[in-house]
Amino acid sequence: MKNISEFLREKKLKKTPLRVAILEIFSSIQKPITISYLEKILHQHQFSPNQTSLYRQIETLVQHNIVQSIILKNSTAYYELQAHHHHHFICEKCHIITCLDTQDLEQTLHSVEKKLIEQGMSISSHQVSFHGKCKTCTF
Ligand SMILES: [Zn+2]
Ligand SMILES: [Zn+2]
Ligand SMILES: [Zn+2]
Repeated sequence: MKNISEFLREKKLKKTPLRVAILEIFSSIQKPITISYLEKILHQHQFSPNQTSLYRQIETLVQHNIVQSIILKNSTAYYELQAHHHHHFICEKCHIITCLDTQDLEQTLHSVEKKLIEQGMSISSHQVSFHGKCKTCTF
């Protein structure tokens, strides 16, 4: 993320110190993280938002398609910047999340979405993830 202030202006979101800090953290980490992990890093940067406002912040970022959520089967939620849309492989054993290049898949999904739209439905998003065991857990 080049310029956070500019980015927020484009998205018509208010620039608050907490919001900027959250985006800076996401942008420097570059992988899916949990809210509690985000909270830990925020504390290190002298921010101490309460859980409710932190959840609300994340919710806003998700609604604006700035952050995407990845929900594990055990319902733990991970979040990461949606710099470019992609899908994940999630290890059922150690819960490690791998970001995948799914551009080929995207075309197929878009054609499914197009058909649904033709049938009168409206699509706000799609969620596809791959589950199994990672290399370390398999051997
Ligand atoms: Zn694993
Ligand atoms: Zn990812
Ligand atoms: Zn997709």
